[in-house]
Amino acid sequence: MFDLLIRGGTAVTAGGSFRADIAVENGRIRALLASGAPFAAKKVVDAAGLLVFPGLIDAHVHLREPGAAAKETLMSGTAAAACGGVTTVLDMPNTVPPVDSLDRLKEKAALIPGRAFVDVGLFAVLTGADQERLHRLSAGGCTGFKVFLGPTTGHLTAPGWGELAAALEFLAPFGLPVVVHAEMGSVIEYLESARQAAGQKWHYDHFLATRPAWAEDMAVSLICRLSGLTGAPIHLAHLSSASAVTIVKEAKKAGFKVSAETCPHYLFLTAADYAEIGPAMKILPPVREKHDQAALWEGLLSGVIDMVASDHAPHTMEEKMNPDPWAAPAGAPGLETMFPLLLDAAIGGRFTPAHIAAWCAARPAAIFQLSAKGDLQPGKDADLVLVDPAADWVVDPTQMHSKAKATPFRGRRGRGRVIATYLRGELVAENGRIVAAPAGRWLEPR
Ligand SMILES: [Zn+2]
Repeated sequence: MFDLLIRGGTAVTAGGSFRADIAVENGRIRALLASGAPFAAKKVVDAAGLLVFPGLIDAHVHLREPGAAAKETLMSGTAAAACGGVTTVLDMPNTVPPVDSLDRLKEKAALIPGRAFVDVGLFAVLTGADQERLHRLSAGGCTGFKVFLGPTTGHLTAPGWGELAAALEFLAPFGLPVVVHAEMGSVIEYLESARQAAGQKWHYDHFLATRPAWAEDMAVSLICRLSGLTGAPIHLAHLSSASAVTIVKEAKKAGFKVSAETCPHYLFLTAADYAEIGPAMKILPPVREKHDQAALWEGLLSGVIDMVASDHAPHTMEEKMNPDPWAAPAGAPGLETMFPLLLDAAIGGRFTPAHIAAWCAARPAAIFQLSAKGDLQPGKDADLVLVDPAADWVVDPTQMHSKAKATPFRGRRGRGRVIATYLRGELVAENGRIVAAPAGRWLEPR
């Protein structure tokens, strides 16, 4: 007898959607059965009229713990994930202290048991070419490395280009992806200091001018070149500009091991929305123009961009509403809005639900070597999300589980709601509520 049988739903995978009953045993998918087949289970869930997705993998999340628990904790951030249909989060290393050594990786991993509602992979930060450190981290279970080329929360130093090349050359044989925040730090520092010297008042156009697309393009271009030179797999975080999409397309054509992500705020917002949304939309790289948005969609649909990730970057409301927006931190919560926004667009006919399963489950599982995740096949972890395609939603920050309430999508409405989230066969969230104790695990690549 199976532990769990999800009966009568439509299974959604990167390969397409089909009617199937999903049988779960010992936390794993045991079988996909013909719809209505006469099998018994300890628990049977009626999923008639519902879509059954593999649990989403969000490859770009800042849980802020340790060091900034006022912004977010493992518990609040992973509760947001579970309620948003995300069963695996890959956590960025710019916490306090940063994850820059094996000891710090282990310390962060030790926080996970009993405090995470979903599984958590951990990135390490790459700040230099110290081979022993990189080797210990690679062997120690990090998901990959993160390089911050531009200024960001935590103010981690960017490695020099020579150092970075040496580090990539050393890391290439390990095969772990090196995730790059691609903006040229020196360009941004210059533009920022020139702006300050001129005493420029806050305006979104001025903000855009300090983080121009060309500063992103330069970094994307150089890092793609280094991937080609060294053979190291590079993953470009949060692509935001049309020109960067073109550069990634060329790099892929040249056979470089390059993958890329974009985020819901670049897909569903443009610079013109700032007037209405305000500081909740201060995000880095910035939300740009309509033609950038169009190119990002095109890149995603054509496969140049591999995935959508939230870049969930929580800050307190007080921090975000700093009277001087220049001084306010950049970033917004995204774990609870990513899937609903994509579902609404899919149900509206822009693309298929299978696209979401590719962008947010299958591709991240393949790129970050999470072999137990990302698909509805026998043997995979039974991370399952039930979605009602006919149910409406509205983004209400008071109902969000993230501590960060300054979402740029406040008040937005759509269709396609997450009804239930299962982690390894156990129901963890139902109708926007956490219903189980935290059973998430530290996830190492394999
Ligand atoms: Zn980020």
